[in-house]
Amino acid sequence: MLRVAVVGSGPSGVYAAQTLVEQREVPGVRVDVLDRLPAPYGLVRYGVAPDHEKIKSLQGSLRTVLEDDRIRFLGHVEVGGAALPTARLLELYHAVVYCVGAARDRMLGIPGEELAGVRSATAFVSWYSGHPDAAGESFGLGGVESAVVVGAGNVAVDVTRILARGAAELAPTDMPQPALGALADSRVRAVTMIARRGPSQGRFTTKELRELGTLPGVGIRTDPAELALDPAYADPGAAAALPAVARRNLEALRGWAAEGPGGQGRSIALRFYLRPVEILGGPDGRVRAVRCERTAPDGRGGVTGTGRYEDLAAQLVLRSVGYQGVPPEGLPFDPVRGTVPHAAGRVLRAGRASAGEYVAGWIKRGPSGVIGTNRPCAKETVSSLLQDAGALARRELPGDPLDALRAAGLRAAGLRPVEWPGWLAVEAAEAELGRALHRSPAHGPVKIPDWPTLLAASRTPRP
Ligand code: NAP
Repeated sequence: MLRVAVVGSGPSGVYAAQTLVEQREVPGVRVDVLDRLPAPYGLVRYGVAPDHEKIKSLQGSLRTVLEDDRIRFLGHVEVGGAALPTARLLELYHAVVYCVGAARDRMLGIPGEELAGVRSATAFVSWYSGHPDAAGESFGLGGVESAVVVGAGNVAVDVTRILARGAAELAPTDMPQPALGALADSRVRAVTMIARRGPSQGRFTTKELRELGTLPGVGIRTDPAELALDPAYADPGAAAALPAVARRNLEALRGWAAEGPGGQGRSIALRFYLRPVEILGGPDGRVRAVRCERTAPDGRGGVTGTGRYEDLAAQLVLRSVGYQGVPPEGLPFDPVRGTVPHAAGRVLRAGRASAGEYVAGWIKRGPSGVIGTNRPCAKETVSSLLQDAGALARRELPGDPLDALRAAGLRAAGLRPVEWPGWLAVEAAEAELGRALHRSPAHGPVKIPDWPTLLAASRTPRP
């Protein structure tokens, strides 16, 4: 029997586990899916916005995989720390597939970034998604009228939308109660999303972009002159050469530019060719504005500075300029790419494939693509692993890794892995919380956002 540990229970980890047990080349593969958190599903639970119910419903299919008899979910198991170094994990399994994503946000590297009120979009997402590591965060929105979101990817679109939406619309979602309460106190009137390049170079997808124009009572503002700086916007002939998603994005923006600003309530402004160069603070040490240099297309897909500046007033700035990989300690890492060096998913140490170590998902290819992109990515990695399986399976293992994991966790930090029934108990507790809060007629589940309550729930057996 080939025993494999998959580290990370987000889409890439679950797809890797599924591919491993469903293939027919190597019979009898058993997989343990480990996660640092007591809850599975990675960014589908802690990254996909709470109002994107359809994408969130993917949890159902990930769940079916994790309930397969040949797979065990073991939450609250941190790999790479003192309790369970990566080398020890490799002793317990024939192979380990790291699917740990890209957890850290990137900085802008400009003066003023440390001012109060300048935060990362990832922290904001983690907070409203109920990630237990974000339980200590607070995003008081009662003193915020204008917010600036830096970046033009789907995360920027998500946080812009959540800031613009009313709490009443979000009440039926599983958003944790403290975050919903802060949104209910919000005085945000204007959210400005800024891109350093042009509208044809936005990284957002069209469905997500268009959704901004469907929010009740929210007007969309664009500047036609700014949009027209983009040769592909100004000239439909040039647009024909663009990828379909960029063409559709331009259509959406053209429609909004033609309509002019609407909506009586909050507004979302989509600005382009603005590069933040400094965050300006007030006497209270809080952000008051973002100074941006206007840019212009350089004809090669990039931009050049124009030496002209514009200050955008803001009491909250969210930088949303991409994620960065953070490998478990003990794995090699390429800091420039932000990924673990690999060849077709085999981890490379000093340029050579390291026996039994693999990567899939964002830690392998960087933070790009949609959830489905992880399927072929995981398949490639599993295919490499299966080619190596003959040699890997020759090593005799010390026994059932779960026994050792229980012992390792207990010894080092008084930890216990949360097994599938423990997760089901968390699910039940979140359903109960939803019923008790009664935030909407359907009173769906509401997330438990802190470590102690999550762990306590996981230890409370349900009938
Ligand atoms: P992203 O798609 O890589 O976008 C990052 C944005 O930040 C780009 O517009 C980039 O501009 C800008 N940027 C980078 N450095 C900057 C700087 N120093 N100053 C100003 N702007 C800067 O990253 P993301 O939005 O974090 O998304 C990560 C992945 O998750 C993507 O694959 C995304 O599609 C996916 N995702 C999907 C969904 C969904 O499907 N609903 C939701 C959330 C996330 P340049 O292009 O000029 O570099």
